[in-house]
Formats: sequence, C-alpha cells, structure tokens
Amino acid sequence: MSDRDTRHKASMQKLKARVDEKVASASEQRGLIIVNTGNGKGKTTAAWGTVTRALGYGYKVGVVQFIKGLWECGERNRLEGDTNLEVAIMATGFTWDTQNRQADTEACQAVWKDAERMLADPETYLVVLDEITYMLKFGYLEIETVKHALENRPPEQTVIITGRNAHRELIAMADTVTEMQEVRHAFNNGLQARRGIDF
Ligand code: ATP
Ligand code: MG
Repeated sequence: MSDRDTRHKASMQKLKARVDEKVASASEQRGLIIVNTGNGKGKTTAAWGTVTRALGYGYKVGVVQFIKGLWECGERNRLEGDTNLEVAIMATGFTWDTQNRQADTEACQAVWKDAERMLADPETYLVVLDEITYMLKFGYLEIETVKHALENRPPEQTVIITGRNAHRELIAMADTVTEMQEVRHAFNNGLQARRGIDF
C-alpha cells in the first residue's frame, strides 16, 4: 500500500468510529419539527421532496399551502391522485395582489382549520405548512395558536414549515432548521420562473 492509501485507510477508520458513535447515540424516535427558511431557492421544493418520500412508504400526508394556493404546482398535479395525500389550499392569490387584509385574514383562518385538523390526526405522519411564516408576519395568524397546535400534535407526526423570516419561536422549537442561502437567483437577472422547474 502506498503512503497515501495507508493514510486514507487510517482516516476512514477514524471516520467510521465517529459515525458509529453518533448512530449509537441517536436513540430517540419521534416526529420532528423541520424549518426550511432563508432567502435562497429550495424551501418548498425540499418540502415536496419529503412529501414524496413519505408517500413512498405509504404514509398519510397533509400539505397546507398558504399564500400561493392559486399558483400552479407540478408536485401537486403529480401527487394529488394519491389517496394518502390531502392538500388544503388558501383560496386567495398573493397578498400584494388582493391588498385586502380582511379577506386575507379570513382565507388564512379558514385554511388554518384544515391545518389544525391535520395536526391533531395521529394517522397523519407528515404535515407541511408551506409559506406559513408570512401568515405570522402579516398577523393573519397568532404565533401562540401555531405553537399550541405544534406542541400538542401526535408524537409520531413530523411537521415541515417553509418560508422566509421564520418566527424566532418556531426556530427555537424546531429539531432541524435549514437556512437556504441565496448565492444567486436567475429571477434577479431577468429570467422568468420556469414551469416544471420553479413551480
Ligand atoms: P422553491 O419553490 O423553488 O423551492 P422557495 O420555496 O425556496 O422556492 P419562495 O420564496 O417560496 O422560495 O419562492 C417561490 C417562487 O419564487 C419559486 O418560483 C421560486 O423558484 C422563486 N424564488 C425562490 N427563491 C428566490 C429568490 N431568491 N429570488 C427570486 N425568486 C425566488
Ligand atoms: Mg416556497
């Protein structure tokens, strides 16, 4: 064996020992709170990826789309035939289109009822609250209400929260927090959002 091979083998042995130790110490089993936040692209894409993953094992999944309910959505098109998936949509367009606080608040509260039902259902393995961070930011929904529903959800249930500027209390209670960091986004160079890629 060359010196390099020997060094590689030694470092892999060390790595394996560390990984084994971590695997052995991760003994707890329960549902998670996952927050996908930050300004970069990928928050909702990653949530749908996890939805697909859970459905792939036959688990029941609920997705609640806040804000962008009227947008086209390729994943929804593809997956909505799956009887294990329920998608609840907030029935208004963009908040800067409607410019109507009262109507937005009502639409938000209505779809939140669906979210609350999913968050109370022990059969639902995964719940996605897509773009819910904006509901809290605009004051359409109270943080205490959301916290209460998250804290009292069934222990086996995982929740994924997406959106920019996640409330610090959501970040504090989450098990996994990922901040998508924008390095560059095509949109800022005049490129249109692309069907099947961006939505
Ligand atoms: P995606 O749905 O692609 O995973 P996202 O959920 O991380 O994006 P949102 O803030 O929800 O980001 O953005 C929704 C739409 O705006 C998507 O079409 C997305 O591709 C696009 N987008 C995401 N990040 C940016 C950005 N930094 N600048 C401009 N447009 C963005
Ligand atoms: Mg998104």
